[in-house]
Amino acid sequence: MARKSPETEHPVTAVGWAARDSSGVLSPFNFSRRATGDEDVMFKVLFCGICHSDLHSIKNEWGFSTYPLVPGHEIVGVVTEVGSKVKNFKIGDKVGVGCMVGSCHSCDNCTNNLENYCPQVKLTYGSTYYDGTTTHGGYSDLMVANESFVIRMPDNLPLDAGAPLLCAGITVYSPLKYYGLDKPGMHVGVVGLGGLGHVAVKFAKAFGAKVTVISTSPNKKDEAIQHLGADSFLVSHDQDQMKAALGTMDGIIDTVSAVHPLLPLLGLLTTNGKLVMVGAPDKPLELPAFPLLMGRKTIGGSMIGGIKETQEMIDFAAKHNIKAEIEVIPIDYVNTAMERLLKADVRYRFVIDIANTLKAA
Ligand SMILES: [Zn+2]
Ligand SMILES: [Zn+2]
Repeated sequence: MARKSPETEHPVTAVGWAARDSSGVLSPFNFSRRATGDEDVMFKVLFCGICHSDLHSIKNEWGFSTYPLVPGHEIVGVVTEVGSKVKNFKIGDKVGVGCMVGSCHSCDNCTNNLENYCPQVKLTYGSTYYDGTTTHGGYSDLMVANESFVIRMPDNLPLDAGAPLLCAGITVYSPLKYYGLDKPGMHVGVVGLGGLGHVAVKFAKAFGAKVTVISTSPNKKDEAIQHLGADSFLVSHDQDQMKAALGTMDGIIDTVSAVHPLLPLLGLLTTNGKLVMVGAPDKPLELPAFPLLMGRKTIGGSMIGGIKETQEMIDFAAKHNIKAEIEVIPIDYVNTAMERLLKADVRYRFVIDIANTLKAA
């Protein structure tokens, strides 16, 4: 059977912005969404955050992008239609979709609420869905997703500043929990103060930790302490500051996606301390073994979180008034936003005002 065009492969007309090739330039794109299935929720997209992964994907920097590509996996909106078997959502509910829209539901990961580690995971954009079509993300006017991948957005969490939590929030919340860094009185380091780092500070503070931001930019100190609530700030290339902090941290969440030295970070850990990588440098990092042995230290990784934990994270954020710091932009600013994101020129997350600025092409 000949492959249908994105515009006609499904019955529901949709409009978005897509990259057409690895230049990564985004432009208006007419496509279609599937009709709301029995277990599906359809929602009108109100806001979508811009994640650093979107930038990697539109430029095919990880080598597996397909075009046209509609990015966006920090998507929030209001339900407009539900399938006949949907149990947990109704029309008018505020909902969100993060990085995943499907998984096998039968592997060990899925049965342990770790769909994010399912080998068959369907990503929100750029995956081949069960019907053979390519999934498209939230830089678009509407979404359709199986209800088991839809998150309920609490009433007291603003949708614009809540959207980035669906990727950035769970990316740091899950490892803080899993690696046991969620206990009051712990000392947690956060490396890098960008989209991930700034929410890591907020979650770690809400867990009752003492939080130290570790950054290459001394000019972020006031912001980190006065605005985001960090307890202290370390300039990573200041030898005296780093030396004074040796052996003081129970864990470090490392959000940096550029290649960087691990040795100085291992030195900051206490005995049994844990260095957790959530950024993904595209080249291997140098790992000296001796500093790991000295003090029985652990290096680990983590990637987003399962749906159950994502809902728990969103509810926790609402309860503790945790929001992303955002700059809301119109869709036609998105290419400029990507250029600024590349230069880390954003405090701290761009969020696209989809509902008010995305018009039919
Ligand atoms: Zn993301
Ligand atoms: Zn699975």
